[in-house]
Amino acid sequence: MPFTANRDFLRKPRMITSAEGMYYTSSDGRKIMDGTAGLWCVNAGHRDPHIVEAVKHQVNKLDYAPSFQFSHPQAFELSSKLVSMMPEGMDHVFFTNSGSESVDTALKIALHYHRMRGDGSRTRLIGRERGYHGTGFGGISVGGILPNRKHFGTLLTGVDHLRHTHDLDRNAFSRGCPKYGAELADDLERLVALHDASTIAAVIVEPLAGSTGVLLPPVGYLKRLREICDKYGILLIFDEVITAFGRLGTATAAEYFDVTPDIITTAKGLTNGVIPMGAVIVSDKIYKSAMANADAPIELFHGYTYSANPMSCAAALASLESYASNDLFQRAALLSPTWEKHLHALSELPNVVDIRNLGLVGAIELAPRQGEAPGARAYEAMLRAWDAGLMIRVTGDIIALSPPLIITEIQVETLFEQLTKILKDLP
Ligand code: PMP
Repeated sequence: MPFTANRDFLRKPRMITSAEGMYYTSSDGRKIMDGTAGLWCVNAGHRDPHIVEAVKHQVNKLDYAPSFQFSHPQAFELSSKLVSMMPEGMDHVFFTNSGSESVDTALKIALHYHRMRGDGSRTRLIGRERGYHGTGFGGISVGGILPNRKHFGTLLTGVDHLRHTHDLDRNAFSRGCPKYGAELADDLERLVALHDASTIAAVIVEPLAGSTGVLLPPVGYLKRLREICDKYGILLIFDEVITAFGRLGTATAAEYFDVTPDIITTAKGLTNGVIPMGAVIVSDKIYKSAMANADAPIELFHGYTYSANPMSCAAALASLESYASNDLFQRAALLSPTWEKHLHALSELPNVVDIRNLGLVGAIELAPRQGEAPGARAYEAMLRAWDAGLMIRVTGDIIALSPPLIITEIQVETLFEQLTKILKDLP
């Protein structure tokens, strides 16, 4: 099983048999509140009727169409819809099937772009410590999480990393983005001084790093990174696999932070988690660089059998419609102060060393337990939460929360009441 304590799971499996709205039902018939929107993807809640109907309708009409040299109308309809939600100038879309594929696609597009412009010496890719960009070789190479990297050989060559922005000494218990650390973006200047800008193709960061424990960008950090990228002709990629589609109360984190990258990677909420799909959105200059090569028989030698699969397109179109018709992004924005208030009330509980929040994302960082492996305390919290009827996610000693955007104020209260009890009793 992926990223799972397999032996432990087999001793006491946690099985889910159905779901609706904010809740799962476990195989032993218990109602479990979804505090994590699945894996950050079920933004409209489970079994949204509009999405269910759209998928049913699609399978009865066109189940599959080849993605190489052929297409179908929904693929173009979806790209137009997606582009309309992106920052201005981000006008073109390439479809994938997951966040990992979106990341590898984005990195390849960045290399391709420089080559098309006759600047093929720009091959170096820059990630960030503690970044998570999925599990492909590109993603783990630019990613910065030790256990995801160390068992898998030498990874991609020509990759370097910015320092991470997590700073408990200066920023613990910040509400929203932390105040200190914008200057950490200058780390890119250090890498330019080390490698020379003429060798660097792109920098990839998560605007808000989710999987690594909800690390927020210090105020001004992303703007500064954009400026440095511009100064040296380096492409900026935002990995928005968790932040796109409403998590911060806006269509993208780029919109939230008012910083436009050159490439955005998405997945997860694109289809509300119903059918796997990802999308990479690129700026006009990148698209034009590929299309300018009139001699190439095919502009981009890259793609997947299931790129823009009709079923995924139907699920995505219906998801985007559901988000819009239920005003879910605005709802997340409106609810976020309540979310922040209840979350930060946990700061007095034992062993809590930090609390972080933005939009409808929250993190509670716990002190590691003496004499046990890191993460043991949070793992126990997850098991206890499951027994108590609440799904949370843990990464190391950090509990991450990201409920479906349909969560009500009362459900927010219930979630934090349950969690408070769990953390109070947790040794
Ligand atoms: N990038 C980011 C920022 C992610 O959060 C994730 C998934 N958590 C991925 C990439 C990988 O997505 P997937 O699991 O769909 O391959």
